[in-house]
Amino acid sequence: MRNMLAGVALLSFALSAFAADVPEYRLPAGVEPVSQVIELTLDPSREDFSGTTSIELVIDAETDRIAINQVGLVLTRIELASGRERRDLQATEGDWERSWLADGKPIAPGEYTLKIGFSGKHATDSLGMYRATFEGRDYIFTQMESMYARRAFPAFDEPSFKIPFRLVIDAPGELTVVANTPVEAVEKRGDRQRVTFMQTPPLPTYLIAYAVGPLDRAAIEGLSIPAHVYVPRGHADRLGFVLRETPRIFAALEGYFGSDYPFRKLDFVAVPEFAFGAMENPGLIAYRTDILLVGDDVSGRQAVNVLNTIAHEIAHIWYGDVVTMAWWDDLWLNEAFATWMAKTILEAEYPQYETDLNLPQARAFSQDELTTSRAIRGEVRNNDEIFASVGMHYTKGATLLRMLERHVGPDVWQRAIRRYVETFAWSNATERDLWDVVSKESGLDIAKMAGDYLNQPGFARVSIDASGKVSQERYARKGTSVADQLWRIPLHVKYKADDEVRQTYTLLEGRTGSLDLPSNSEWIFPDAGANGYYRWSTSRDQFYNLVDDIAALSDREKIALLDNSGALLNDGSLAMADYLYVVSRLLQDPHPLVTVPALEAVRVIGDEFVTAANRAAFATFVDRALSARYATVGIRDRTGDSEALLQMRPRLVRVLGQFGTNQGLARDAAELVERYFDEPASVSSALALEAMRITALHDDGDRYDQFLRTYLDTDSANQKSSILAAMYFDRPDVVRRHLEFSLSSEVQAADSLSALRAFTYVLDDHAILYDWLDDNFERVVAKAPSYFGPTMPQRLGGSCDQHNLDLLREFFADRGEVYAASLAKVVEAEEACIARRVEHAGSLNGFLQDPVNAE
Ligand SMILES: [Zn+2]
Repeated sequence: MRNMLAGVALLSFALSAFAADVPEYRLPAGVEPVSQVIELTLDPSREDFSGTTSIELVIDAETDRIAINQVGLVLTRIELASGRERRDLQATEGDWERSWLADGKPIAPGEYTLKIGFSGKHATDSLGMYRATFEGRDYIFTQMESMYARRAFPAFDEPSFKIPFRLVIDAPGELTVVANTPVEAVEKRGDRQRVTFMQTPPLPTYLIAYAVGPLDRAAIEGLSIPAHVYVPRGHADRLGFVLRETPRIFAALEGYFGSDYPFRKLDFVAVPEFAFGAMENPGLIAYRTDILLVGDDVSGRQAVNVLNTIAHEIAHIWYGDVVTMAWWDDLWLNEAFATWMAKTILEAEYPQYETDLNLPQARAFSQDELTTSRAIRGEVRNNDEIFASVGMHYTKGATLLRMLERHVGPDVWQRAIRRYVETFAWSNATERDLWDVVSKESGLDIAKMAGDYLNQPGFARVSIDASGKVSQERYARKGTSVADQLWRIPLHVKYKADDEVRQTYTLLEGRTGSLDLPSNSEWIFPDAGANGYYRWSTSRDQFYNLVDDIAALSDREKIALLDNSGALLNDGSLAMADYLYVVSRLLQDPHPLVTVPALEAVRVIGDEFVTAANRAAFATFVDRALSARYATVGIRDRTGDSEALLQMRPRLVRVLGQFGTNQGLARDAAELVERYFDEPASVSSALALEAMRITALHDDGDRYDQFLRTYLDTDSANQKSSILAAMYFDRPDVVRRHLEFSLSSEVQAADSLSALRAFTYVLDDHAILYDWLDDNFERVVAKAPSYFGPTMPQRLGGSCDQHNLDLLREFFADRGEVYAASLAKVVEAEEACIARRVEHAGSLNGFLQDPVNAE
């Protein structure tokens, strides 16, 4: 497409005066769509499709051409009409996935109808409009976010063009056809049907959704509007949990926003081939099948995941769908908002899961501490740039919103959110608009504080000395250097003095400040409530006093303390033995969810720091620390177990099974796998996953065929993804067989990298992977959803090993600029990891030889 550019550039001088203000990757100003009708002729059993679209337009100033987004479509019959005048336009493909429509004559300002006939071939990579075959039946689904609607029909495919749409779908008469809005009319024509849907309220193109295929459905009862879950034929009996819990989430969200759900219906569709977890299309929210088809009896992490996903998507209805970002540079707010809102709802409605003990900042820190980290708000021009930093949108963004919520107070924050949604309903808004509303409601200047976190990468490390003097600098891991930066930091501090635990607060605005602290504080915990997006350190004595008095902290604070200790390990201010002292403390905590991050810390140490030389000593430490707990907890879920225990058990099984030598556990795991393969519903999916992994790790490869056979036989999407994620076999012939299998039609596009993920994790030497990738990389990239592409180097990293890093670097060295950003990130992370392992080896060995006295 790029080589068409020269000719296009010659034509473009006559563009309207506005054009100068609009970046080149955006559609030019001066042409505004008002509404759009899309008529599609679809048949899931065919590879091609066709359609016509009719767009009402207003043109502000004379122009010689109209730009419209499309990619991969053949445009036919382009007609521009105004009153009685009709003109045929020709299309020239330009860059940024758009076509220029012109007939060589000027187009005067005024109102027009633009009609375009088009045809195309269905995608199969789960993006845009695509075909999927599931259990031998064909379906059509859609995933238009971010810039994929243009694959399905020509459109002004930018979120700021919010207009009403009307969909008309012509499809085989026996299939179910659903879309964002209720059906207005169905016309039968022989063995086909023409389904006209009601016009939507103003929507951006990325929220258009429809599905065609042999879908069954079940009703969600008890909502103010009609609601159904559509599922692939034959699966409506697995919806118990979702049908039961959705009304509760729905009501909680209506309550928070203080306004009714704003669309005419709420349908869910379970999509067997889906590139994301779920997608917030108004009136037709799409989910991976393994999120909706979970049966009746769901608990532990799986329950949290399902509830969280549903709450996240319905929260988007208000922010995302009714109020929409003006451009993709505010995608962070869209995702941060839904993530924060879902957490808020789960904490209030489902206290039994204790989701407040899941700290989103922990995941954000680990990405944001890299020197290659970028600000979460920044220029984005295309899909690849959007996906390059999308992870932190959720985690860092949600942490920021929670910190701001605590800063202004939850009531003020809620009033501001309500006003924001009311003010910008059915139109677009930017982050600036949100800060304006919050600042007005709270009387605090929020924009500056928020800007510190949005427009700069990284985060602060706050040091507090015994006298209460505070200073900040940007956190950097040992051996790296970062730019000098400052943040406005709301600092909530807990401390103990004179046998009493108290709190104090300051807003740290410059490099240094001071806290109102007595001189004899026994310990200081500088993140009271654990809502801060910063790291911290205190004097060594105060740090140890705090760890020894850890019961004075809340469970959430204990987890933050452990996480912060990891940061101090990585920046060189804490020795490995000191860190393991904190980890050991938390491993013994009575609360199962407090032990979860400690178990995760043990896993990371086992993965990254342990080598052949100290593997046996580490196993002894793991056995000693965890075997007694395993003896009481066991591998099977029992009636009466708390949700916290149900969430912890799989982690315990994983860590003890992988790094310890507990023979009983290995046998228990193998037995559980047999049970799970015979009767999937009898074992929770999280436990089954870990039991399969342990079994595969202990197996010499003979069981691979059993895993594969179960994968092929099962019709449970959940079981299929679990089996793929558990392929921890390392025999070379099995590795090669399974890599090949991952590219077969038996594995859906979104799961096609699961084999690479599993093998980069379990193989000591990655040479076998790169040998295979040398011959098959194009096939891998072609099969996976296209947004996976630019992040491939990071997906192959994580081994913390020089030889494997060299292989990785060599492999991507001349594969193009598209991998450069991801390669830089993974190289930095791996090199840092290797350096840390070397640096901490002595301290780790010291601890492993004498865990009790190591401190
Ligand atoms: Zn989202």
